[in-house]
Amino acid sequence: MMSVTPIPALSDNYIWLLRQDTSQSVCVVDPGEAAPVIEFLERESLSLDSILITHHHHDHTGGLAELIKRYSPHVIGPANSSIEGIDEAVGDGDEIRIMGRLFDVMATPGHTLDHISYFTAGIPALLFCGDTLFCAGCGRLFEGTPEQMFTALKQFAELPEDTLVFAAHEYTQANLTFARAADPENEDVKHALEECEKARALDRPTLPSTIGRELKINPYLRVNTDSVRQAAGTQGANDNDLATFTTLREWKNRF
Ligand SMILES: [Zn+2]
Repeated sequence: MMSVTPIPALSDNYIWLLRQDTSQSVCVVDPGEAAPVIEFLERESLSLDSILITHHHHDHTGGLAELIKRYSPHVIGPANSSIEGIDEAVGDGDEIRIMGRLFDVMATPGHTLDHISYFTAGIPALLFCGDTLFCAGCGRLFEGTPEQMFTALKQFAELPEDTLVFAAHEYTQANLTFARAADPENEDVKHALEECEKARALDRPTLPSTIGRELKINPYLRVNTDSVRQAAGTQGANDNDLATFTTLREWKNRF
């Protein structure tokens, strides 16, 4: 059984730590800084086997150099990227093995052009989606087009509903606040926001989510519903799913 633990980093990042059963050798995803990872590993007497990187932003790679120097892990990251320290450069359709478990690499450009995500089937299925899919939201379009991001999100929507979604930021509360405006008739969003506010008041992570839950509360995955389409129509174009998605993403930027 693979367990996944959040290591909070920077202001609102999670560095996810993967551990197979009781193995002392672990993997981390997107180490934006080294110190909290080192602290965790030392406290639990663990060693670092490998690192997965989703994209080039500093808050996902800032800890790489120090972790490489200290632990010499196997580093896997996007092929079409300038990230330094990658041992295994991967792209869409590649398979990788992490601590005995097979992961599929999915190209998910939009937030950045080099963005990839990692999915492993099984019980439970796990998705590490960096800054592409967030709980009730999606990443900003820094480099890619709305169409690229929308295509990536549609790929995620096809994954098994019980897939655990490990996004890289604690943005849930702001996303759900926006979702209340973008999907005003959705009672699930209202309840999710109440639950989220309780969790955050206790400083608890709101992640992981699941694909099934995202299909119910994430407005970017619900652009074909009347509630979202009509709300988008008050802000811009909504004549097809991509136009509605594009309007929502621009609306969120100024929300
Ligand atoms: Zn990013």
